[in-house]
Amino acid sequence: MPAGLKHFPTLILLTLVSACATVNESKPADSDPDIAISSEAKAFEMKCETDLAMVLTLLDKQEKITEPFTVETVLVPLNELQIALSNGARLASTYKSVHPDPDLRKVATDCLVKYSDIGTQLSLSRATYDAVNMLDVSHEPDDTKRFYELTLRGFRLSGVDKDEETRDKIRALSDEITQIGQTWDKNILDDVRYIEVTTEDLKGLPQDYIDAHPPGENGLIKISTRYPDIYPVYTFAESDEVRRRLRQQERSRAYPQNEPVLKSLLEKRNELAAILGYDNFADLVTADKMIGSGTNAQKFIDRVSKLAKPAQEADVKQLLKRLKQIDSGASEVNRWQVSYLQELIKKEQYELDAAEVRQYFSYGKVRDGIFELVSNLFNVEIRPWQTSTWHPSVESYEMLQDGKVFAQFHLDMHPREGKYQHAAAFGTRAGISGRQLPLTTLVCNFPGEKDPNELMEFDQVSTFLHEFGHLIHGLFAGNHRWDSLTGIATEWDFVEAPSQMLEEWIYDLETLQAFATNAAGEPIPAELVEKLNRARWFGEGLTTGIQMYYASLSLNYHSSDPATFELFPKMLELEQRYSPLPHQDGTYFFTNLGHLNGYSAIYYTYMWSKVIAADLLTEFKKEGMHNTNTALRYRQTILSQGGAKPAAELVSDFLGRNYNFDAFANDLKKGISGD
Ligand SMILES: [Zn+2]
Repeated sequence: MPAGLKHFPTLILLTLVSACATVNESKPADSDPDIAISSEAKAFEMKCETDLAMVLTLLDKQEKITEPFTVETVLVPLNELQIALSNGARLASTYKSVHPDPDLRKVATDCLVKYSDIGTQLSLSRATYDAVNMLDVSHEPDDTKRFYELTLRGFRLSGVDKDEETRDKIRALSDEITQIGQTWDKNILDDVRYIEVTTEDLKGLPQDYIDAHPPGENGLIKISTRYPDIYPVYTFAESDEVRRRLRQQERSRAYPQNEPVLKSLLEKRNELAAILGYDNFADLVTADKMIGSGTNAQKFIDRVSKLAKPAQEADVKQLLKRLKQIDSGASEVNRWQVSYLQELIKKEQYELDAAEVRQYFSYGKVRDGIFELVSNLFNVEIRPWQTSTWHPSVESYEMLQDGKVFAQFHLDMHPREGKYQHAAAFGTRAGISGRQLPLTTLVCNFPGEKDPNELMEFDQVSTFLHEFGHLIHGLFAGNHRWDSLTGIATEWDFVEAPSQMLEEWIYDLETLQAFATNAAGEPIPAELVEKLNRARWFGEGLTTGIQMYYASLSLNYHSSDPATFELFPKMLELEQRYSPLPHQDGTYFFTNLGHLNGYSAIYYTYMWSKVIAADLLTEFKKEGMHNTNTALRYRQTILSQGGAKPAAELVSDFLGRNYNFDAFANDLKKGISGD
């Protein structure tokens, strides 16, 4: 999840956890002038101090530019400043999330805050803005024009064109928003709740889960609201009451303490939007997205909700039918029953057995299979890269085109103490043409560290491919000279489209049979792939409906003056309007939907990217999933472009038309099994 929301191009890059990543050439780490692997906290702290001082010197120079204002005197040094800022912040951001030494992680965290402060300072630098604003770029190449336009837009969204007093107010408000946001996150993180259950209550759960949860002195077992604890319960626990109680606790975290916190977060954001000339914060935060405005986001949510309705109703009907076999008097499906019932139906109706599937997906084979797929599709070579990293389990690779290295990446794929706990692609270093290669670090928590034959779950394989989609986007786009155009420098609501699209190949028989073999070397049977495909869309309507409820909550809290509504009733109203399932009594989701900080009004972005990903795929479905011409055209028109053009233009360059909702709507229909 992005850490904050700033409009200045560099900062947008810094906040995205799906850009590119860390490190050096095949020579000793310290010979690389930009990135050093500092294994000691002290050394990293000193490097950070030196780099920050250099960035500040550049900023100071930038603010003292005098006429004549030209591309050479204004934009080139500004680009240098952004690159320096980006290099330092990206490395700190990666180390903060992966370094095994807690002291170094702390240093990296502090270092990142300082970079972020300088970023804010730059975004409000009136002298720099005035100089940029006076440039004439009409005779410059397209990429220079684009850099100029993005820079100006970023400055204006930051409020740099306001008077000094207003700029001070903006700065103060931004700081307050950051601090309130931190309190919000911390309240959620700190509020771990428990329920106590008996051994009997855990019936249906896997034995390893039961073994990991022994009874305490009172004979009862404590189940926490932490993720690894809750999902198995929701999916497998036969006891309806246990699932209900656990979900009630989970969805009440940070209540009531986050209620006033959210209220003031919304008030400050609303105030900031007003100062910057917007009706509300939703309009401000969508101004530089594909969607363009809060009103458009609302229309999008309503449109998707409507499209999902038939599939959603079919899903609920199917779940209710199965529920009635357990409880003949049941008249509705509740939220705590969904995962459990879905699991039963998947087993019974789609005959999909997770254990049967996973035998074909050992970590080593999956990794090699993904390399093979990407190499063939995009005509690149991937080879090991000898370099130093922060942990012995990290593997490093180079990517080559026509025998020439053009990008590098690290795979940090296995869990360890203190490491980032989700999956993400970190842009450790942005590529700048003729100067520095792009470097991405994939950070995941998969099995396979001790032994590459360890097996992965199917959804982990899908996650691997998804993150690899971010990786190739960042690397293929890592050859621009302007910082704001390089890597995944596209609109936030387009970022997930290339990664969501790549997931599709995990359902392709030819791709799977090329690498997914079991211990005896037998490839995954076609019938099993067929089953995976049939089960795939089941539940999609329901999931889409629930996602649109979340999106509406995120949007609506930010689309009017918070003085005009109460948080809880507003949530209930939206839940009733968008959610396919009834509200669970005693839950307060508005105090623990973490995205309300990092994503503010734009939770819709996930679904927006998904609609576009489905449309992009139509070209591959037409020409063949392994057609290299289509893949190369896709790479050329979309991935390699980075931020060189608005995303909508990139998409229409590839499709030969504007994007539409048809493919997405068709996918939803696949979920309707006809009873
Ligand atoms: Zn992603």
